[in-house]
Amino acid sequence: MFHRAHLLFTLLCGGSTAIITILMSFLYLHVSENSLYENQFRAFQNDINTITASLEDSTLISIQWLERIEAQNGYMIYLTDNGVPFLYNNLRSGIDSYGQYPIQESLAAYSDMFEVSPSPDNDTQMTGSTYSGIRHAEYPFISSETKETYYSSLINIERGQAVSQIVILYSLQTLHAQIFRQRIRFLIIDCAAAALLFTFSWFFTGRLLKPLKETHEAQTQFIAAASHELRTPLSVILASSECCESASKEEQKGFFLTIRKEGKRMHHLINDMLTLAHTNANRFPIERKDVQLDTLCLNAYESFESLCRSKHLSLHLTLPDEVPPRCYCDADRITQVLSILLHNALSYTPEGGQITLTLLWHPTASRSADNIKTPFSRKNSACFEIIVADTGIGISDADKKHIFDRFYRAEKSRSTKGHFGLGLSIAHEIVAAHHGKISVKDNPGGGSVFIVRLPGGILWNML
Ligand code: ADP
Repeated sequence: MFHRAHLLFTLLCGGSTAIITILMSFLYLHVSENSLYENQFRAFQNDINTITASLEDSTLISIQWLERIEAQNGYMIYLTDNGVPFLYNNLRSGIDSYGQYPIQESLAAYSDMFEVSPSPDNDTQMTGSTYSGIRHAEYPFISSETKETYYSSLINIERGQAVSQIVILYSLQTLHAQIFRQRIRFLIIDCAAAALLFTFSWFFTGRLLKPLKETHEAQTQFIAAASHELRTPLSVILASSECCESASKEEQKGFFLTIRKEGKRMHHLINDMLTLAHTNANRFPIERKDVQLDTLCLNAYESFESLCRSKHLSLHLTLPDEVPPRCYCDADRITQVLSILLHNALSYTPEGGQITLTLLWHPTASRSADNIKTPFSRKNSACFEIIVADTGIGISDADKKHIFDRFYRAEKSRSTKGHFGLGLSIAHEIVAAHHGKISVKDNPGGGSVFIVRLPGGILWNML
């Protein structure tokens, strides 16, 4: 599913950006080609203006002058006098591709465009010169013979009744070759850009989908584990209810007791699952108030004291010598954390063991219980520490990495009834919602030490 989504997002993201890039480059190419044509035509017009200005100043058109213009600008010049071709044309007709120039097509295009005479805007009148007038017009045309585009200029020189014509042709072949090369370059750049965009999109969408994939996998695991945990009490309930049908009154009482016990287990598990589901959906209700943490610890101590005594365990409470400041937290949630930790300590400490609940207050950054600098050292150094230590079975280093994961239970505590492996993950979520930290380490005398650190101090209390 995620692989398909990854591919789809890559195609969507890479495709849309590539299309936009290619469209923009085409637009740029179109604008640049148009301006190339415009500039070339303007340059051609300027050249013709210069040529006509020279013609105005001179009485004689020399072959050298014509040849120089042709060679300098890549033009082809064709001259007629009263419709009769000049000798110059005959001299040039054997050279290069001179004969291939579409003179007649140029004249026909001129007639089509201007009918008889060029537009008055392009007229250049000569006065006080041998010539009575010079008129010229520039225009593009496509030759049907050579399939080439040309810029053409027709210069009419009137001298009394006599009319000389000069046709100047410029082939756009070179410009077309230049434009073709530019298009190829753009195509290569576009292909490279599209490949880069698709590669980038693949990594980018992969990174975007990663948390979704992880959440999906976590949810699948959660559902699988929850179904597994629910199946046991449910099968016991079903089996007990079936047995009830044929059982005596006395036996039925026992079965009802089992059903109630398993029902309570399921209720407890569903409550835990709901709490975690709320943290997943960011709907974890935290109602912060100024709370006296020493009072919370004292209450927890009192609740667990008799339970510990019944299990032949000793429970000790250590509070700071001076009354600590109030902590801005959710009293019910912190009580829940305390009861998870104390309940675990109680469950995993054999008879005769010892459990201690300690509250510490660090007004400034200092070395804390597990010898790590407090996590709030820079902006808000003050912090509270709630430590629950026991002399129980302890937790191996390998298990320490996973005990805050949902439904995780260490191998040696799998048999402990009523434990689903959700307590510590709930505690972790609650502490995280308070911007705090929960950690575990070994108790030097055997057993485990759980440390909950909650931020304190003026800045935190102002949040
Ligand atoms: P559970 O409900 O199974 O105790 P938790 O999430 O509270 O679930 O704890 C996860 C696992 O961490 C437990 O199954 C147990 O293996 C281990 N654990 C937790 N607290 C202690 C402790 N005080 N001593 C030893 N092992 C513990």
